[in-house]
Amino acid sequence: MQLKNYIDGKWISTEGLQYIPVVNPANGEKLATVPLSTKSEVDQAVVAAKKAQKQWALVPAPKRAEFLYEIGFKLKEKKEHLARILTKEMGKVIEEARGEVQEGIDMAFYMAGEGRRLFGETTPSELADKFAMSVRAPIGVVGLITPWNFPIAIATWKSFPAIIAGNTVVWKPSIETPLMAYEMAKIFEEVGLPNGVANVVFGTGPNVGSAMVEHPDVKVISFTGSNATGSKVAELGGKHLKKVSLEMGGKNAVIVMDDANLQLAVEGIIWSAFGTAGQRCTACSRVIVHKDVKNDLEEMLVSALSSLTIGDGLDPTVKVGPVINKAALEKINHYVQIGKREGATLLAGGKTLTTTPPFDKGFYFEPTIFTNVKNEMIIAQEEIFGPVVSIIEVASLEEAIEVNNSVKFGLSSSIFSQDVNKIFKAQRDLDTGIVYVNAGTTGAEIHLPFGGTKGTGNGHRDSGQAALDVYTEWKSIYVDYSGKLQRAQIDTEN
Ligand code: NAD
Repeated sequence: MQLKNYIDGKWISTEGLQYIPVVNPANGEKLATVPLSTKSEVDQAVVAAKKAQKQWALVPAPKRAEFLYEIGFKLKEKKEHLARILTKEMGKVIEEARGEVQEGIDMAFYMAGEGRRLFGETTPSELADKFAMSVRAPIGVVGLITPWNFPIAIATWKSFPAIIAGNTVVWKPSIETPLMAYEMAKIFEEVGLPNGVANVVFGTGPNVGSAMVEHPDVKVISFTGSNATGSKVAELGGKHLKKVSLEMGGKNAVIVMDDANLQLAVEGIIWSAFGTAGQRCTACSRVIVHKDVKNDLEEMLVSALSSLTIGDGLDPTVKVGPVINKAALEKINHYVQIGKREGATLLAGGKTLTTTPPFDKGFYFEPTIFTNVKNEMIIAQEEIFGPVVSIIEVASLEEAIEVNNSVKFGLSSSIFSQDVNKIFKAQRDLDTGIVYVNAGTTGAEIHLPFGGTKGTGNGHRDSGQAALDVYTEWKSIYVDYSGKLQRAQIDTEN
């Protein structure tokens, strides 16, 4: 199958574009080919989106919502079909793929509900016979740039709030996972979303992504990906005075205190560190453990590892799938070698699985645990984005929080403890955008804000009501029905 761009409600195949294969990371199977579009396809999509936006903004929001409800029902109807494609193109195990599609369904219904809310404020005026209110206004054409690790969920976090608020979108998915975007575009077509409201352009970041950021008619860029790319997007976007929302990397930690339910902590760590083969932005990559329970926790973690089957995520017994590609495998291995050189102790795993079937054709890395890791080591500071976790010993809650906060990222953190005083201190002092108590570092729900502090972002949030702030401008409206000129701050005596 050769994928086509979806522009202005039509499937466009442009003469002369180069195509590259989309490969199943579990076994090397070629799933499709994807075009490497150019600035010219971006221009076409932006023209269509700009034209459509004028009309779309005039459609009452509850009517716009009807399309989102239909999209939600379609996603629900196709859930298993989509989950299987997701597993094939991205590698995450099938139950997680189902969960990711469910996130899209939830987001569709949640944002459809916004069609009857999109609340602004009414507030008293300081003058008589005058009415004051604020409303959310759409901004225009929104450019979405998304990563491969959540190829459908992240796109729904961004596109649905943008669309419900009266914007139109041009979406550039990751070149690694274009199939989910292709499936979403089919759904946009099937539900009859007006032409030009949602467009998909496939291609690389430097070509298609940059062209979107630079385009004068793209007013907002919503980006999720690595810090290296995010800073380029921010720089270019800043030059063109764009509103840029960035969601980037993490170095998330689970804190295990001496009074924790250790069995629960082990389950939380295993799920957060090795689910999606450690390739979630919220993956646990550090365990900060109180010295009194370190040995017990380590023993329990190593024993729990033995029940993790590695393999093709379509097999329902498999718990850890492949990583996305060869470059990811090499990067993970590189960090493991760094960890060894830095003097950390390899407690489990540490190797690329390559030689025997099914591992010989895919990209598999053993779930890996380092212990005796010092906070200043590279493996404790940088995002590895693979199934590798570092155990760091501490002597108190205060030290645990300090270690948690000592990295440049601030996405997710978690604490396992039974002590309400420690828990409340921790949730106050952990400098991350998401905090979990007695659960791992993953598991966000779509009606709460999603994003991080410090180097993880630039103050915006995906999901929840907060997402609407990215895709709307506040407009303050004053209606004077006094029939005379009244001057604010001056004519105050009535
Ligand atoms: P990436 O930065 O390589 O790519 C992200 C997107 O940016 C892709 O669509 C890519 O094509 C595009 N891109 C690349 N260069 C570009 C350029 N010069 N201009 C414009 N766009 C460009 O990231 P990735 O490898 O796809 O994803 C993994 C990263 O994403 C990890 O760092 C992970 O933590 C992060 N992530 C963050 C969140 C979050 O919400 N904070 C969620 C998921 C993933």
